[in-house]
Amino acid sequence: MKQRIALLGSTGSIGCQTLEVVERHPDMFEVISMTAHSRWQQLAEQARQFMPDSVVIADPTHYAALSEALADTDIKVYAGDEAVAQVAAAGNVDVVVNALVGYAGLAPSVASLRAGKKLALANKESLVVAGDIVMGLVGTEGSALVPIDSEHSAIFQCLVGEHSPVRKVIVTASGGSFRDTPAEELSNVTVEQALRHPNWSMGAKITIDSSTLVNKAFEVIEARWLFGLRPEQIEVLIHPQSVVHSMVEFEDGAIKAQLGTPDMRVPIQYALSFPARLELDAPSFDFLANPELTFRAVDRVKYPALDLAYHCLREGGTAGCIFNAANEVAVAAFLGRRIGYTDIYKTIAHAFDTLPLVARPTLDDYAEVNREARRVAEQFIAKR
Ligand code: NDP
Ligand code: MG
Repeated sequence: MKQRIALLGSTGSIGCQTLEVVERHPDMFEVISMTAHSRWQQLAEQARQFMPDSVVIADPTHYAALSEALADTDIKVYAGDEAVAQVAAAGNVDVVVNALVGYAGLAPSVASLRAGKKLALANKESLVVAGDIVMGLVGTEGSALVPIDSEHSAIFQCLVGEHSPVRKVIVTASGGSFRDTPAEELSNVTVEQALRHPNWSMGAKITIDSSTLVNKAFEVIEARWLFGLRPEQIEVLIHPQSVVHSMVEFEDGAIKAQLGTPDMRVPIQYALSFPARLELDAPSFDFLANPELTFRAVDRVKYPALDLAYHCLREGGTAGCIFNAANEVAVAAFLGRRIGYTDIYKTIAHAFDTLPLVARPTLDDYAEVNREARRVAEQFIAKR
């Protein structure tokens, strides 16, 4: 039987690559619903190609335009954040691909797990904000979670068939757009330079997050929740080639790595096809053409954001929620040219310094802290 997919964030980088995977295996996968935030024209085009039962535009101001664009089809059109969570929990869906960006991904992650779906999760922010709640829901009504993030997919793949405890995981980082830029020059870099990632083509927010290593910090938190690790079991290494996607070291010192040419379709497809593998036209990695695979330590002065991940793991509670909210606001302000590049970290640090932590938060507490942290970050930015 075909797996019936709700694709949240179909117009984004992960969303489009998920559709490529579906297109390649029409006998295996079927798109039941697709959602976007504001790019309604692209959503309408995708809907005409994949003919889902329903589409959702999260920003309701585009509802009329989208409805009109699909008026001659049977596709149901909905609008608003709640509708995104509703299509994720719908009875005719087997798998939810959560390819939303930011805090907006949390509620649909929760809704899919509560409804017993398999959640193929790209939206790492769900785990950064509320990893305790999200992981606590895995198993409800038979629900499951499979990571799409390449590092976590690599770790997941290394763990298949293993039953012994791990000594540690080694998460690799490309180093982002400024890996060869001296720290002193970072205050003058431009948005265009920051958006030029050396190895991956991704959405704007994660490309900036990769350059500040906030993305890697988020991935440390993500790894803690997905694999139940202690902070000291998660190591990060800069690996400029992005060929080793991450590694697991076992108790006997044996290390397993998952390697390949950088291509997000591989972890997306694996999340959908697990435990099987399906054919993909991904190129074979040529070791002889790329004989150098190098690793180095992260410069903690140049990339202060990485330490914040370990701070969040130690503190728990709403620390990750504050980190995520302040970062979302700061990255949007940088992309909007309202602050400089190094102000991103300053905004996050300010939010941590200003806001108290809430222990054992509920989803409502997270929502409240998310709002508060955004407000504090906006205020800080307005004064700069
Ligand atoms: P994009 O910005 O390319 O796409 C985001 C998608 O979410 C779009 O469909 C967008 O709609 C929609 N969206 C944005 N904001 C909202 C909102 N407030 N409510 C509802 N929908 C919204 O992001 P990526 O595909 O790059 O990343 C998606 C997630 O996957 C992120 O969490 C990222 O960290 C993670 N990830 C991405 C990787 C990549 O290679 N891109 C690799 C590993 C992880 P619209 O187009 O209308 O704006
Ligand atoms: Mg990643």
